[in-house]
Amino acid sequence: MNLLIMGPPGAGKGTQAEGIVKEMAISHISTGDMFRAAIASGTEMGMKAKEYMDKGALVPDEVVIGMVKDRLQQDDCKKGFLLDGFPRTVEQAAALDETLNSLAIKLDGVINVDVPLDKLMARLTGRRVCKGCGASYHVIFNPPAEEGKCNGCADELYQRDDDNETSVGTRLNAYMEKTQPLIDYYSKKGIFKPINGDQDIDKVLEDIMAAVK
Ligand code: ADP
Ligand code: AMP
Repeated sequence: MNLLIMGPPGAGKGTQAEGIVKEMAISHISTGDMFRAAIASGTEMGMKAKEYMDKGALVPDEVVIGMVKDRLQQDDCKKGFLLDGFPRTVEQAAALDETLNSLAIKLDGVINVDVPLDKLMARLTGRRVCKGCGASYHVIFNPPAEEGKCNGCADELYQRDDDNETSVGTRLNAYMEKTQPLIDYYSKKGIFKPINGDQDIDKVLEDIMAAVK
């Protein structure tokens, strides 16, 4: 199954992606994770992306689109995939349609995780991420069993550079201006699955699985 998960920053896309890819045995393609990996390995593309990411701005379409095109052609995507954090602009969505058509891949569902915007600042500034596996925690809403340590791989948790109030403000504005119009874009396609993301993490996953099966 080929899926896409969208929603504002902090909606719980990464958190839910963990559960979805495990249950469905599909590949997780997170453009944010790909950029953070490129930054960690010090590539030129990573350094360029970092300038935008630290401010909370979107990385230019041509960079993201090229990266996703390459990724979708890798072997592990044949078993199915979950795109997370892409597309984020109407231009990216059009490029994705074109790429999927050219590769004869059908998108089976677009999961839209909806959370009231006034709840997102607290979710993002309290987020902690595992250095090893990228799992997402929250100091209050989803704390690890042992403070500062991942439940899964026991690696150290860190706070993302862009999870500060200033960057989060810019990211929420970018979402409203550039990404929200995609709700309309995908609603017209008949594969749109609206999900209430303002519930317990387990209940959100249950609703997603019921919507896509
Ligand atoms: P996204 O990938 O959409 O930016 P994350 O999955 O990283 O969002 O979640 C953002 C923050 O909100 C994390 O700290 C996460 O632990 C927390 N979170 C995720 N889902 C929920 C939920 N249903 N209720 C409360 N907090 C949540
Ligand atoms: P995320 O991990 O999804 O929260 O993304 C972190 C940051 O990476 C974003 O704020 C953007 O700067 C950048 N980014 C990730 N995905 C995209 C995308 N599809 N288009 C543009 N920028 C992106």
